[in-house]
Amino acid sequence: MARASGDERPDCCGARPGAGPAGLVLANILQAAGVESIVLERRGRVQVEQRARAGFLAPDSVAILREHGLAAGLDARGHTHDRCEFRSAAGRIDLRYSELGGGRIHTVYPQQALVTDLIAEYLSRGGTVHFDTAVERIEGVHGDRPAVVARDGEGRELRFTGDYLAGCDGARGISRTVVPARVASCDHGITWLALLAQAPPAAESVIYGVHARGFAGHMPRTAEVTRYYLQCDPSTDPEQWSEQQIWSELARRLDAPGTPALITGPIIERGLVRLRSQILDPIQAGRLFLVGDAVTSISPSAAKGANLAITGAELLAHGLIDAVRRGDETALQRYSRQHLPRIRRAQEFSHWMIDLLHPPVGTGPDNAYRSELQQARLHNLAVSTAHQDVFADNYVGI
Ligand SMILES: Cc1cc2nc3c(=O)[nH]c(=O)nc-3n(C[C@H](O)[C@H](O)[C@H](O)COP(=O)(O)OP(=O)(O)OC[C@H]3O[C@@H](n4cnc5c(N)ncnc54)[C@H](O)[C@@H]3O)c2cc1C
Repeated sequence: MARASGDERPDCCGARPGAGPAGLVLANILQAAGVESIVLERRGRVQVEQRARAGFLAPDSVAILREHGLAAGLDARGHTHDRCEFRSAAGRIDLRYSELGGGRIHTVYPQQALVTDLIAEYLSRGGTVHFDTAVERIEGVHGDRPAVVARDGEGRELRFTGDYLAGCDGARGISRTVVPARVASCDHGITWLALLAQAPPAAESVIYGVHARGFAGHMPRTAEVTRYYLQCDPSTDPEQWSEQQIWSELARRLDAPGTPALITGPIIERGLVRLRSQILDPIQAGRLFLVGDAVTSISPSAAKGANLAITGAELLAHGLIDAVRRGDETALQRYSRQHLPRIRRAQEFSHWMIDLLHPPVGTGPDNAYRSELQQARLHNLAVSTAHQDVFADNYVGI
């Protein structure tokens, strides 16, 4: 346990860059087990609590949150979701996945609400979060006392040491740059305009519009807010899209005979999501362990990112608790081996979803062939219960 001296701050288990789902779930579980740690977050609290991203939580994630006393908000305000629909020129495929595969369902709870709950709970458990504090360097991960050097909002340099460090600073953080990992990556060449509309969902279910002009997605979030996606040109400037253009393009790609029209409303947030995937292996270096998007960037096509962050954080928490409280590093040493297969499975399914949802990119000579495959995948989902079962298990599983 380090003592405070000069710019050093006291720290038991270690410091963690990142107050996203990964860092906050980990911090909460450790704190409840009496293992103290410090969360360093480069953004301000308000910004972190308002950042809208994920919404679909798999049962494994919900079970973890419940088991560790972190689910009061989602149990009170989240809602269950068990249907998704594909709309294409070939017709509609309506899958009630509570009746397929293992019969599992999602809980829809906006990520910013979950992050807000996790911060409040962590602080009430006596935890410490330094907001507006950006980690600049990580040192000594192969020694006994790894350190994090950060700069706070007033420009002061802070140094934190601990027994272990967890890199929970997302896909663009610095933790991953410290791990000499083999990086397997794929740029899918696809960009989405990601939109949040102040408008009720047009249907209870997620709708995937598989259209020759590009993918469109309808994802319910709350009774008043809906997330939409529109596949767009990578060079698009989101601000150049008028609200009228957005709604007419969404309607065109999501329209199907006999279905209610989209419910329009102001677009309250817009941004670009470039579909890129990455898997790091290994996911630790010495006493630094990576979790969440720091380990794997995954496209939102199958809603896996936040779920991998939560399940990875729980796995790492158990390893750290054993190591700090009992001096037993067995579980920590298994962390990479246990977590990477889940990541690969989620990546494989997300990639399959990308191929299912998007027309072939560019003008390659095999595009016509790829279009045929896309139609075959949709057909299989429409007619084969075996395909539907496998889809359901992957769609809701981690
Ligand atoms: C539009 C969109 C929709 C999505 N939808 C879904 C969905 O439905 N389901 C799902 O499971 N996933 C979804 N995802 C993915 C999901 O949001 C991420 O996988 C999830 O946020 C990962 O959590 P994390 O804690 O690993 O990283 P993050 O949430 O990115 O948190 C990392 C934190 O680290 C901080 N940080 C970074 N660098 C530093 C530094 N140097 N010093 C200090 N702090 C730092 C960042 O500010 C951030 O707060 C979506 C993503 C997007 C963009």
